[in-house]
Amino acid sequence: MALLAVIIGVAIVVENRPALQGREAYAPPNNGAAVVAATSTATATATATVEPTATHTLPPPSPAATFTATVPTPTATRQPTPTPSPVPPVVLTAIARQCAQYTDVQRLLLTRVDRDVLLPRDYLPEDLQVMPLNPGNVFYGSVQMRKIVQQPLLDMLDAMNQAGLKTIVISGYRSFADQTLAYEQWLRLFPDRAPQLSAVPGHSEHQLGTAIDFSTPYMKDQYGDYFSKSFADTAEGLWLTKQAAYYGFTLSYPQWAEDVTGYEWEPWHFRFVGSLAQQLLENHVTLTEYIQKCNGGS
Ligand SMILES: [Zn+2]
Repeated sequence: MALLAVIIGVAIVVENRPALQGREAYAPPNNGAAVVAATSTATATATATVEPTATHTLPPPSPAATFTATVPTPTATRQPTPTPSPVPPVVLTAIARQCAQYTDVQRLLLTRVDRDVLLPRDYLPEDLQVMPLNPGNVFYGSVQMRKIVQQPLLDMLDAMNQAGLKTIVISGYRSFADQTLAYEQWLRLFPDRAPQLSAVPGHSEHQLGTAIDFSTPYMKDQYGDYFSKSFADTAEGLWLTKQAAYYGFTLSYPQWAEDVTGYEWEPWHFRFVGSLAQQLLENHVTLTEYIQKCNGGS
């Protein structure tokens, strides 16, 4: 009986644990560190230095016809793919062709940062700026992102506002120092799961200045945290799942690709990649695999 009581006690403790789901719950909204980083002598990486004169517009449409035309229609006779990748090889081949045609602006949006590849500690996007968000879309303080993200983001939020949705931006650019603080918080709370719950410093897409986390003002009251997988079931989450790609934002860590991305599903985390986002959505391809292929991976 004593053992049973202990087991029940543990179960209750687990049940009552704060709903700290996802990788971002302890990400500091403070962008002060970013300012510090901006004033340091940031030795830009080779990727960062090839920034062309920014056009501040969406990248031109990529050759979607070529890409989609090569996506096979599954048939009953198709043999199972021997690899665990959900993307048929023919699609990956099409991706490689498409990457070769990209402009520098488009390639910059595809800087690789994932489980295996990290950004330098001093990687700093050169065109960071504060997003002029509608007050109703602000969570706390200011949000910095790359300039190319601004207009698509404002257009998307306008559309959501007009549809009566309540969307707040929790986090945009985060410096290496910001991410270090966030990761240390997770390590203290859940030492065994921290690598799945939070990006190790240098491995966060937020350091690129093109990743963004959304939530709603009522998430914390209804679901215990501003970051919860239940966001996917909210009106705002459902809208973003279907529509964000048409504004250039792709869901970086889908539910169906946890094995591919190495991260738990994050229905609130999107990354701006321009017109590519629609192709990824329509072809069920993860950004992780696409970028790896563009960088010569298989
Ligand atoms: Zn995020």
